[in-house]
Amino acid sequence: MLTFLEEFGYLTTWLLSAVVIYGRYLLLAGLAYFLFYRFGLGPARRKIQAAFPAAARLRGELRESATTALVFGAVGLFIVALRAKGLTLVYTDLNLYAWWCLPVSFVLLVVLHDAYFYWLHRLMHHSRWLRKVHAAHHGSYNPNPLTALAFHPLEALAEIAIIPVLLFVIPVHPLVLLLFGLWSLGWNIIGHLGYELFPTGFVSHPVGRYFNTSTHHNQHHLDGRYNFGLYFNYWDRWFGTNNPDYEQTFASVTGQLGDGARVQ
Ligand SMILES: [Zn+2]
Ligand SMILES: [Zn+2]
Repeated sequence: MLTFLEEFGYLTTWLLSAVVIYGRYLLLAGLAYFLFYRFGLGPARRKIQAAFPAAARLRGELRESATTALVFGAVGLFIVALRAKGLTLVYTDLNLYAWWCLPVSFVLLVVLHDAYFYWLHRLMHHSRWLRKVHAAHHGSYNPNPLTALAFHPLEALAEIAIIPVLLFVIPVHPLVLLLFGLWSLGWNIIGHLGYELFPTGFVSHPVGRYFNTSTHHNQHHLDGRYNFGLYFNYWDRWFGTNNPDYEQTFASVTGQLGDGARVQ
């Protein structure tokens, strides 16, 4: 039986991957934007910054996200091509490994991508050359859900480059890859939402404090010296890069300090 790649060729496989990635972004980020910025789902007090993004900014983010989808699609094609040559541990036969490989491989992808991103992100703020590339994403001082994939193409490539490498050492089923892609996009949308979703006290909860929040990443867009983490907060806590005002800002956004006590 011919594989998808043999049947349709490299160009169609690449474009189809990019269309699926962009479609998924438009659907989920667009839905979040509609619900919170048009439909008024988020309470005004939980808006982290009072201002709303200009239409020109949103159009720019939609364009940048389209190029990110082309880059991610190219990496998807690269993975498919590697697998066709038998060079990855991607498997489709569920009988090949124990069932628990599915959740364990998912957790490994998430934890390792999070660690990779934290250090890559710090490097992007440290190096003058990389800072120019990363500036495209930081064009949004006041992020919204559409900012989720708005990157310079080189940053998009750098962010996802770890995934094909991991597929050489971790056996991963395509369903796990699909779920990981949704997890990553979902967290990016939450991080850029502009509204705080997590409950009061979340950042002081023994478990909650190790997860990032919308406030955490929103603060990074305002002040790039702090808050480099992606999904989890332990790297920022361990290396002292959490914004010193993080807890207080979170408390004010979630109403813990009472009405009129907003700090920004
Ligand atoms: Zn961001
Ligand atoms: Zn940054």
